[in-house]
Amino acid sequence: MKHHKETEVLVVGAGPVGMFAALLLTRAGIDVEIIDQSERTASRSYGCGLHPHSLHLLNDAGLFDSVRDAGYRVDAVAFYDHARRRAEVDLSRLSGEFPYALALPQDTLEGMLEKELEAEGKNHIRWNHRLSELNHSGGGVVAVVEQLGWSAQGYVVPHMEEVIEGELEVKADFVIGADGPASEVRTCLNIDWAPVGASELFALCDFETDAEIGREARVLLAGHETEMLWPLSANAARWTLRVGSPDGPSDAPHKERTRIIVRESADRATAFQQWVQARTPWFAPPVKAINWLRDVPFTPRLAKEFGHGRGWLVGDAAHTSGPLGFQSINVGLSEAVELADKLKRILRDDASMDLLETYGRNRRREWECLFDLSHAVVPETGADPWVKENAARILASLPASSEELVSLARQLGLDFSADAQKRVLEFETA
Ligand SMILES: Cc1cc2nc3c(=O)[nH]c(=O)nc-3n(C[C@H](O)[C@H](O)[C@H](O)COP(=O)(O)OP(=O)(O)OC[C@H]3O[C@@H](n4cnc5c(N)ncnc54)[C@H](O)[C@@H]3O)c2cc1C
Repeated sequence: MKHHKETEVLVVGAGPVGMFAALLLTRAGIDVEIIDQSERTASRSYGCGLHPHSLHLLNDAGLFDSVRDAGYRVDAVAFYDHARRRAEVDLSRLSGEFPYALALPQDTLEGMLEKELEAEGKNHIRWNHRLSELNHSGGGVVAVVEQLGWSAQGYVVPHMEEVIEGELEVKADFVIGADGPASEVRTCLNIDWAPVGASELFALCDFETDAEIGREARVLLAGHETEMLWPLSANAARWTLRVGSPDGPSDAPHKERTRIIVRESADRATAFQQWVQARTPWFAPPVKAINWLRDVPFTPRLAKEFGHGRGWLVGDAAHTSGPLGFQSINVGLSEAVELADKLKRILRDDASMDLLETYGRNRRREWECLFDLSHAVVPETGADPWVKENAARILASLPASSEELVSLARQLGLDFSADAQKRVLEFETA
């Protein structure tokens, strides 16, 4: 049986960006439905760094105290060429209220956002609801949403199979596609999703150690090697190591939902330790326990447009980037803020629909620049030759966006060209 629902904004995807957009719209008094095909929030640390700019946005949304209490401050990033320390940036020299980045596992952030939505009282996420069709209709959109369930199949060895238990037709004034790299909203809107760079395979490993990790992230850039040690707490960190190119084209990786932590065996921990030690003996703290280890392919992609008509994209539905600077999740949070604000002005203040075209232009311009850092950056005379040579890779691994990215670049003797600054900082407002 088909059920019907009407709402002002349908948010497809309850990842961090979709939940943040839904929260801001709800608080602005907009009627929102938020659906997700999975059964719950993610269960791993994934994009585990918040940029200074994101801390501002979370502070504006009243979430700063919780993220600060659960997170771990990161004050500096040092860059290495093999054993040689070549450059560093000091985030504490940034102006503004939040001169640091915060290490916060993505599952913790998602849990907080879900709780905030619940606290609003009316917008519980509809988990196990998958968008299967979307059409523009009249002055809005009509979405077909499948309600998913599970059924045990097989007699001797039962296994669980997904079943469609029902269908929901949702009529909405607008739809936000926050449904990640394999976005169905983007497909239904017929928006091209092209790679803008080569795929790279990274090993990600969250581990505990008896050593003091400190508050400095360390990045190694040497030939094709790219590695980062990112603090997660005083005695835990994330290793991100480039292991090569994936064999053949790679699909976007899936987020896990199971809460069970399977500790890697002592043998695997030892093998990993030896591998890291062989590559980077100068900063390889001893691994006490591995909490998560996975090879993940990353392909930089950018949607041809951020939306049209009544359907607009945010977050990984519109772009995916590499793992080092946590750009996709953080810039996604900024997109959620801009889109929620513009939708509110259209729905409540009778503002023009042209605002949405502005949103699309602003956001694409910013990403064009972020993906083309080698042309966006102009080294100052006197900048370190190694920094000049590696400028694009260095900037792509900084935990910063917008003004803070420009300021940190200057600490390294790198400036953004006038055009690039315009793209990253000067957004159209009307
Ligand atoms: C294994 C892995 C490791 C990662 N590591 C890093 C890292 O080291 N550094 C980094 O910066 N980033 C990393 N990321 C990427 C980071 O997690 C994303 O940038 C972030 O999740 C983007 O948030 P989002 O809300 O835009 O999309 P997502 O978090 O992808 O959320 C999209 C949601 O939409 C739902 N959905 C999809 N299709 C439908 C549909 N048809 N109907 C309803 N719901 C739907 C999905 O279930 C999902 O919950 C990693 C991602 C993965 C999977």
